[in-house]
Amino acid sequence: MAFYQKMKLNKTLIPVLLLILSACSNVEVGGVTPTPVIALVADQPQVTFEAETAPSPVPFQFSLPTPGAEPVSAWRPPLYPIPWAMSPYDHFYFARPIAADQVNWPSADYRYGGVFFGRNIVHTGVDIPTPEGTPILAAGPGTVVWTGWGLFSETPGNQDDPYGLAVAIRHDFGHNDQQLYTVYAHMSLMNVIKGQHVETGEVIGFVGATGATTGPHVHFEVRFPGNSFFYTYNPELWIAPPQGWGVLVGRVMNDKGELIQQLKVDVRSEATNKLFEARTYGKGGAVNADPYYQENLALGDLPAGVYKVSFRYADEDRDRQTWVEIFPGQVSYFKFDGKNGFSTERPPAPTLDFLPFAITATPPP
Ligand SMILES: [Zn+2]
Repeated sequence: MAFYQKMKLNKTLIPVLLLILSACSNVEVGGVTPTPVIALVADQPQVTFEAETAPSPVPFQFSLPTPGAEPVSAWRPPLYPIPWAMSPYDHFYFARPIAADQVNWPSADYRYGGVFFGRNIVHTGVDIPTPEGTPILAAGPGTVVWTGWGLFSETPGNQDDPYGLAVAIRHDFGHNDQQLYTVYAHMSLMNVIKGQHVETGEVIGFVGATGATTGPHVHFEVRFPGNSFFYTYNPELWIAPPQGWGVLVGRVMNDKGELIQQLKVDVRSEATNKLFEARTYGKGGAVNADPYYQENLALGDLPAGVYKVSFRYADEDRDRQTWVEIFPGQVSYFKFDGKNGFSTERPPAPTLDFLPFAITATPPP
C-alpha cells in the first residue's frame, strides 16, 4: 500500500525501479541465475520494497503499520554452538543447512511426520523455504556418500526421483554408537562430489525445486543408523535452537495407550499470545520416535516461557489443556493419555530392563 502511494507521488520512480529490478535478476549466485521467486512463510512478514534506494520527492515519511496488523519480526537469536546438549538425552548436534541471515527454520505448515502428497506418504524431514540459489550448508562434518538424482529410489540417475538433486553426508560422529547421516534434497545445483570430506557450514549445493516440490526449499533429514528412508528422525530434535529458545516434545496417546496420529495441537505463548501449531505423528512406516522421548510431537524454535498446550481429544466437547515451560536450550516434555490426562514427568532413564529377555535373571516359564 505504502509503495503504491509513493508510486503515485512520483512517476519518475518507475524507470528507476525497473532498472533496479532488472539488475537483480542478473545477479549470479554461485553460478546459478536465480529465478524471481517469493517464498512466503506462514508467520513471516511479506518483504516489500520501500524504494529507499531510489530518489524520492518526500524526504522523510513515517511508516505506520496497518491498524490491527501486529508487526512480526523475522529475526531470531543466533544459534547455540554445536554440539549442544544440556541433558544426556538431548542431542543438538547439527547446525542448520541455511545460513542465519536467511529463514533457516522449518516450515510450520509441513513438519516432520506431516502428510501432504497423499495419505500414505509421510514427511520424513523438515522443509526450509528459501529462495532458489541460496547456499545449502553441511550441518556437520562428514563424508559425502550420495550426490545427484535417485536417493529415494536408491537408483542413481533416476530423474523421476521425488528428492530431485540430493546430497547425503555420513557424519564423523554418531549417537549411541550409531552412525548419523543428514540429507539435503531438491537442490538446483550441487557443489560436492561423492567421497569428499566437508566441514560444518561448507557450501554443498544451492536451493532449488528439483523432484517432487511445490516451490524452492531445502528438505533436510536426519537418519540413523543407516542412510535409508526408513531410518529418519525428527530434525527439530537435532538442530541447535536459537539462544534463549527451546524445544517442546510430546507423547499424545488415547485411552488404550496408543499414539494418536495427525491430531492438531495448539501451543500458545502466555507472554505474547502467539500461536504455534503442530500435528502429532504416528510411529511406524518411515517416521520414527526418538529412542528416549518416544514422542509423536515436536516443536522447535520456541522462545523460553510458559505455553498453553491444547487440543480436542476424541469426541469431547471441550479442549484438553495444560501448561508447559520452555527453557533456554532445552527440551521440555509432556505426556498425555486419555485416562490419566497430562503429565510432565520425563521418561525413566534406560535401565537393565532394556536388555534382551534371554539374559534376565528370571527364567522363562
Ligand atoms: Zn520436505
